[in-house]
This record gives sequence, structure tokens and C-alpha cells, in this order.
Amino acid sequence: MKRLNWCFFILIGLILSFLSGCGDKKELKIFKMTGAAQGTYYAITYCSDNNENLQPAVDSLLKQFDRSVSEYLPTSIISRLNNNDTTATADNIYETVFKKSMEVSAASDGAFDITVGPLVDAWGFGFSKKAKVDQAMVDSLLTLVGYRKVRLSKGKLIKTDPRIRIDFDGIAQGYTCDWLAQFFETKGIHNYLIDIGGEVLSHGQKPDGQLWSVAIEMPAKNAVDERQIQTILLLKDKAITTAGSYRKYYEENGTRYSHTIDPSNGYPVKHNLLSVTVIANDCITADAYDTVFMVMGLEKSKGFLVNHPELQAYFISDDQHGGFTIFYTPGIEKLIKQN
Ligand code: ADP
Ligand code: MG
Repeated sequence: MKRLNWCFFILIGLILSFLSGCGDKKELKIFKMTGAAQGTYYAITYCSDNNENLQPAVDSLLKQFDRSVSEYLPTSIISRLNNNDTTATADNIYETVFKKSMEVSAASDGAFDITVGPLVDAWGFGFSKKAKVDQAMVDSLLTLVGYRKVRLSKGKLIKTDPRIRIDFDGIAQGYTCDWLAQFFETKGIHNYLIDIGGEVLSHGQKPDGQLWSVAIEMPAKNAVDERQIQTILLLKDKAITTAGSYRKYYEENGTRYSHTIDPSNGYPVKHNLLSVTVIANDCITADAYDTVFMVMGLEKSKGFLVNHPELQAYFISDDQHGGFTIFYTPGIEKLIKQN
């Protein structure tokens, strides 16, 4: 999934207090589980009247998820379809992520594009080492990029060129939260906070009847600086994810290149936007749009958001004087936790 492991999570699901009881008529108790998945951590908190240990089931669901859409597994469905293995067939997870990706590509005029993989690699953010990139190389790789060049038909990936590759890194981790949430719902559990490497889905309320709190991280000056909290939001039945350009990047001649690629020109995005946090009804949507806004930059995103009231976003930009400038959509105001 997201490369560079958990050094790079941006949001931290912050459970601010653990009080006894779950604020319900039944004898509900609070459970918390943490572990490793997708090259990062997971942390899940939920309320239940059942003592059953759900962690083995969660771990096995996470493994199933990887077998579908993790490019790190050479035998996963995504890897096999990318490698033109005709015996591979998309499963429900792959189909859901693919379909949502296409929807968001169309809605964002191609800012979101799961075929950017060859460019991600060339610019040194993928599996291979950074190549010496020049305009001719970008032009040639761009012939392998474009969401209209791929489609799914009866579980088979149809590509206009066999070298085209699918990269779900900008969206799949968010979907993991939604997918795990379905499991908790089938167990009759409706109050939970699922955090996978900073992609967070909240449902219901905290044990003490309060809303779930999630922190937005203050961008660090460089990739290794300590994490500090920018602000805390209170959420109910919402997902929140962040894309940032301040942990995964490289600098060349004083310019910082982020790991988000602008599919319209084939270059890593270069603007003052340090991070974008998106709040949506589900986590797959939030995760796709954090990437979209990273590509669009602040001004274009503002225009887009006016027509998309179902999305809220919090932007942190570099003010070029060692500080930050903040912009957030009107719906964020009432979510901010007051001290
Ligand atoms: P983060 O890793 O910062 O949380 P994202 O959710 O934006 O962020 O995912 C970034 C990953 O998405 C990149 O590493 C790359 O694999 C992929 N990616 C880069 N540019 C695009 C794009 N324009 N559309 C879709 N995916 C992209
Ligand atoms: Mg994303």
C-alpha cells in the first residue's frame, strides 16, 4: 500500500479519553486493538457487549485485502493483472477500488489517475530507483498514462498497451477502513474508530458518549521531524484522510518534489500546499480526494469544493516565510474542538 511505511502516516486517530462503560443500556465494554498492516499501523477502538477476540479476524481480513490490491505481493490480484496474467480475475475489493477510481477521475477531469504508476516509478517514488528524467522520457511515459486507457470487463483488466499499470496507492488504504467497518457492522458493532496509518473512519460515538476526536498533524519542516498537532476535529459517521507533500518528497536545486504526480503534464506537483485533509462520508472518497486536491493545488480545489458540499477540506500551505497559511471549507468550523 502506501510506500515508506508508517514513518509517513499523517493523521493520528486520537482517542482522548477512555472512560468506563459505553453510554448504553446494555453492558457495553470498550475494546482496543493495534497491529501492523499495509506497511503501517492500525488502531481500532470499538464498543461491544461481547468478549469475543476479533483481532484474528481483523488480521485475516487485512491479509485478504493485501492479496487483492497490494502491489507489494507479487501474487496479488493487482500485481497479476498489472503483469498481464490472463488467469487473474478481479475480486470485489479490486472492482470497488477500480470503479471508485474511475468515478473520481471523471469528476476531477483526470487529476486522479490510477495509471500514473510508470511516472511514480520514474520520479523515484515507486519500487525502482529514480531514473534520470527528461522531457522526452516524460512524454514517452505519458503514452502509458490515462484512465481512459483501462477498463474492467468481467473481472479482466483491458489495457490499450500491456505496459500500462494500475497504482491504487492514492485510494486503497482509505477503502480498507470502509471494508473493515462492514465487518464490525455484521458483528452488531456500530460505535468504532478505525485508523489505518492515518486514514480514519469514525462511526457512532466514544464510550463516554462524546464524539470521536481526530487530530490533523502540523506539517513538519522535513521528513523526520517530530509530529505535532495542528488542530483536533470532532467527527460523527465521517471519514478523514490526509495527503501530504512534507514527508515523501525529494529536493533538487532547492525545489521540493512531492510523490503526487500531475497526470496532465507527468511531473510531480510543485506548489506551496503541504497537506490536504479531506472529510467525507466514507474513507475511500476522502482518500481519493486528498490526492485530487494535492494535484489541483489550493485555488483550483477551492473552486471545485464550492460545487461539492459533500466534501470538506483543510489545507495547510507553506507561507514561504517559515510559517503556514491555513484554509478550510465552511463545514470544518463546527467540527473544530474548542479548548
Ligand atoms: P499520502 O501517501 O500522502 O497519504 P495519497 O493518498 O495522495 O497520499 O497517495 C499518494 C500515492 O498515490 C502516490 O504514492 C502514488 O502511488 C499515487 N499517486 C500519485 N499521483 C497520483 C494521481 N494523480 N492520481 C492517483 N494516484 C496518484
Ligand atoms: Mg489519497
